[in-house]
Amino acid sequence: MHVETLGDGRPEHTVVACVHGDETCGWHAFNRFKVSDVELTAPLKFILANERAFKLGYRYCDVDLNRVMPGDASSDRHEERLAARLAHELAGTKVLDFHSTESQGGPYAVVTGTDEASVQLARSTGLDRVVDMSGLSGGVTRPVPGAAIECGYYDDEDAATTAHRILRHFLTVEGLLEGEAARSTPVLYRVTDGRIDRVWVVQK
Ligand SMILES: [Zn+2]
Repeated sequence: MHVETLGDGRPEHTVVACVHGDETCGWHAFNRFKVSDVELTAPLKFILANERAFKLGYRYCDVDLNRVMPGDASSDRHEERLAARLAHELAGTKVLDFHSTESQGGPYAVVTGTDEASVQLARSTGLDRVVDMSGLSGGVTRPVPGAAIECGYYDDEDAATTAHRILRHFLTVEGLLEGEAARSTPVLYRVTDGRIDRVWVVQK
């Protein structure tokens, strides 16, 4: 796991990439953001989560990190130990967790619970679709306020460009960048038993 903080002070926001090591769009987005000519008005924590799998080009080494939170520091499986460290790093912050996907149907936000804080973070992405996956297991944002983003097809250029755009929008709405950006009023979908149902339109 690689952790770095941009800016001074204790970050209230964390951006996560590579919970799945072969989904690199968040990593590319963060690097583009770092070299771009922007100044943060509040500190931001960045985590490259499954660094070992990322370097190997694997989704994971032993088990799916997204399925084993909050992990086990004494496990002999890499991702279970990593999950315990990741849970510690995420605690007390608001989290945006970047993924890419096998489908071409992105981007959309994913929440694991429709608590007010997580829904607001999903809206801060500016995306018009939010999928509640609290009925399924897993998700690194389950114990914290947070949203995951499915950016598009694996690590192609489009997914990285989409992730960078969403990151900038999110940071602007959340007050870490100066500029104009608004929360979206997305449609909420819920996944249950392999079905996906439209639930409601999230109110402003
Ligand atoms: Zn993923």
